[in-house]
Amino acid sequence: MKGYMGKVLMVDLTSGNIFEEDIPDKIYENFLSGVGLGAYYLYKNIPPKADPLGPDNILGFVSGLLTGTGSVVTGRWLAVAKSPLTGGWGDSNCGGNLSPAIKQCGYDGIFFKGISEKPVYLHIDKNGPRLYDASDLWGRDAVETEEILIDRHKDKKKCSVASIGEAAEKLSLISGISNDKGRMAGRSGLGAVMGSKKLKAIVLDGDKKIEGNDKEEIKRITKEYGNKVKKASFPNKLKGSMLPTMSRVMDMGSTYSPLNGMMSIPMMKRWGTIFTNTFGLPNGDCPVKNWDGSIKDFGYSKYKYMNPDIIIKREEKKYHCYSCVIGCGGICNVSDVTRGKFKETHKPEYETVNSFGALLLNKDLDSIYYINEIMNRGTMDTISAGNTIAYAIECYENGILTEKDTDGLKLTWGNSEAIVALAKKMIKREGLGDVLADGVKKAVESIGKDSEKYAINAGGQEPGMHDPRLDPILGIHFSADPTPGRHTVGAGQYYTYMRLWEHVSWAPKVKMRTPKENNYVPSSEVAIKSVANSCIKQIVDGSGGCLFAMISGLSNWRLFDYLNAATGWNITPDDYMLIGKRMQTLRQMFNIREGIEPMSFKMHDRIAGNPPLKEGPLEGKIVPIEDMMKNHWEAFGWHKESGKPLEETIAELNITNLLNI
Ligand code: SF4
Repeated sequence: MKGYMGKVLMVDLTSGNIFEEDIPDKIYENFLSGVGLGAYYLYKNIPPKADPLGPDNILGFVSGLLTGTGSVVTGRWLAVAKSPLTGGWGDSNCGGNLSPAIKQCGYDGIFFKGISEKPVYLHIDKNGPRLYDASDLWGRDAVETEEILIDRHKDKKKCSVASIGEAAEKLSLISGISNDKGRMAGRSGLGAVMGSKKLKAIVLDGDKKIEGNDKEEIKRITKEYGNKVKKASFPNKLKGSMLPTMSRVMDMGSTYSPLNGMMSIPMMKRWGTIFTNTFGLPNGDCPVKNWDGSIKDFGYSKYKYMNPDIIIKREEKKYHCYSCVIGCGGICNVSDVTRGKFKETHKPEYETVNSFGALLLNKDLDSIYYINEIMNRGTMDTISAGNTIAYAIECYENGILTEKDTDGLKLTWGNSEAIVALAKKMIKREGLGDVLADGVKKAVESIGKDSEKYAINAGGQEPGMHDPRLDPILGIHFSADPTPGRHTVGAGQYYTYMRLWEHVSWAPKVKMRTPKENNYVPSSEVAIKSVANSCIKQIVDGSGGCLFAMISGLSNWRLFDYLNAATGWNITPDDYMLIGKRMQTLRQMFNIREGIEPMSFKMHDRIAGNPPLKEGPLEGKIVPIEDMMKNHWEAFGWHKESGKPLEETIAELNITNLLNI
């Protein structure tokens, strides 16, 4: 009764052998579950320098320590494997209902190694785990696959399915894994790992109980947070069209102050992440025109179509991931924009709308709904795909690509027809789509060195849709995290909202009226904040928590108390942060063992302001990223110049001993 199940399942797809492994309590006490359990298991079991698409790579589906314990907003799972996109540690966080289903089968993680001769899927129910032939499903999209498998294995309760579509089957390095008909574990290219193993899907139908230690305390925390979320609302009179003005007002002045993260909740409840599509344009948060433009290029005549009130007009019902009281998702009717081809789609996330909207100067919202659904079905990551199409458009506009290369597509800014056609080609690996299906870094190898200046990435991964020239701490996470280019690890803004300093003794307090310019200067304070972000995010990802609950503030969503109630450990937030540091250090050790030079993950010059933008809200902004990365590593106890974890840090965290358990 400690929240976790205490064992994992290993499926060897080459031999067909399936076996359970017990995981000692000590591992959970030092790495939690979720991403920590994944890092522990993969570091121990993947041989160094394994081919990410070969039999030695291990793909894991890991649940969170808090998932299913009665806690709320803790229903997220992660896919983990060596990433074929970056060559290092890979993970991808996803919602829906898969996380509890993993634990209901009796496991904290389900791992796969080897390569099957023919397509297969794994089914687990009360009779145990079995592999089935999936030849009839290979070639089908993820939504169809899920529907067929749910129908095939229908029992008293609906089973949970994760599957891949065409892009992943064709080993696109920017492909992901889908569950709940389009919730996507899109990052790190882990769909390709699943495709390489010829694993089409997993179907989970267990009925094991998940229990936390102190159920009453969990209930109390849940009630308290649930009430806060219920009460968090703003006047109905506030319209989506007012968001740009609100953003301008909030961005006025040259200082910032600590905030209560609950202020983000009403927006999430009403619109979901799409409120950022217009809120983030006036202050420069939303990247425009392949990260080289601004609101001046995507002005009112274009961004008015991205008003969240317009986007949610199609929303027919709200969507909540498992155990979520916020419910930022939605199911939208898209039968008219897809000419009857698809009935519905998950409400596109901000990331998708911006990647295929402002980033490409595309104001055609209908095309974005369509792309959202084909990407979900084909299981291709919209962030990477949008960045890659932006790269292709800039190549075309500058004569590096011609109509001969694009099969006649006029790849001009904002040409939605061409954008849709290219997105389809990428999923199918047709023509230019074949070159682009592996992301910008690989595309440069085919298209030519000259195009590197348009290939926006960090360590081979295309960055999420938030601009580090607005938030330099975000840039540190884009560049210094073992999984680069990720907007979900941390940012200065997240730090301000979650108020970690109220719990963790060494987390610097955000003072009233802190000059914004402070964040652009490499300093130990900035570095300690970014280290704190990294540590807390590992804890969240080890617990199954959602980033949006974390941002609502740790005095509101009481993660540390939840963990103590679930496990009975009764340790301090500082102790948990040490666990987070251990998890992050192990992820970095994984990369070092793979031969990665951490400085090679430094984000693309353009998004560090080299050269600086000449106009717009981020005009002249420069992020001294190299120095900031070095400070971050030093504050972590890693080598300041090389980014390698120091022997004394590894020893202090007891990692080597733990790996030998
Ligand atoms: S806030 Fe949104 S993404 Fe997070 S768990 Fe809830 S529904 Fe899922």
